[in-house]
Amino acid sequence: MTRTILVTGGGTGIGRAIARGFAERHEAVVITGRRPGPLKETADALGVRALKCDHTDPEALMGTLAELPGRIDVLVNNAGGNTDFDADGRTDLAAYARDFRANLDANLVSAALTTKAVDERLVPGGAVVHIGSIAADQGAGSYGAAKAGLASWNLDLAGELGPRGITANVVSPGYVADTEFFRDRLPDERRGELVSSTATGRAASPDDIAEAVIFLASPAARHITGQVLNVNGGAYRTR
Ligand code: NDP
Repeated sequence: MTRTILVTGGGTGIGRAIARGFAERHEAVVITGRRPGPLKETADALGVRALKCDHTDPEALMGTLAELPGRIDVLVNNAGGNTDFDADGRTDLAAYARDFRANLDANLVSAALTTKAVDERLVPGGAVVHIGSIAADQGAGSYGAAKAGLASWNLDLAGELGPRGITANVVSPGYVADTEFFRDRLPDERRGELVSSTATGRAASPDDIAEAVIFLASPAARHITGQVLNVNGGAYRTR
């Protein structure tokens, strides 16, 4: 039977690769995001369905929920990213609070809200997979804290969903090439340092991350839950 896969933030980067991987396996994929442009472009290219949604906004989520299929086999909480990349050295406390909260919202609260919103539609044999980050283990301000919180919260989620035959895991990427973060936001020198800290000597491709997600969402992974799967090329756990 064709499964229904919801990939949040599926219009670009890693989410797009995840959506493509499932679509190539003939699953029915729905992608979400805030910007109509990337959503439409990806939906047209992959032949998947796209819905506009801000996953940090409960009201927007409820609106999107009305358009989602009644049954969801796999939820991939991929939407997120470091919204506070330039925070170092900020002294304005109000701005600090705003930006810190924004990162928690973008990377932790959004995943919890989305999971809660679709909870009743998740079916036995299904899976929830969150996209974490190596930042959770390295200390990376509010972003690392949010991703670490995601892994912690997922332990509760796995406990809740387990009796219903649904798994919940985190795929934690290291450095991923061909993404806006890695390509445009890092200075060349820092990019080189990060790559040389891996055992494989390269950044991941978005497809490397997608393959791990697809495995965790497959029947082969039915007894794996509450875990963090690091897909980081053996990157050292130092900053
Ligand atoms: P992208 O910016 O390409 O992808 C993020 C996607 O999420 C975008 O499509 C964006 O679309 C969507 N998104 C962000 N916030 C929201 C929101 N509130 N509601 C709905 N959609 C949202 O980055 P990546 O592909 O690199 O990142 C994907 C995930 O991987 C993130 O969770 C990131 O933290 C994680 N990650 C990335 C790494 C990397 O090296 N690139 C390393 C480790 C983890 P739109 O803006 O239109 O809403």
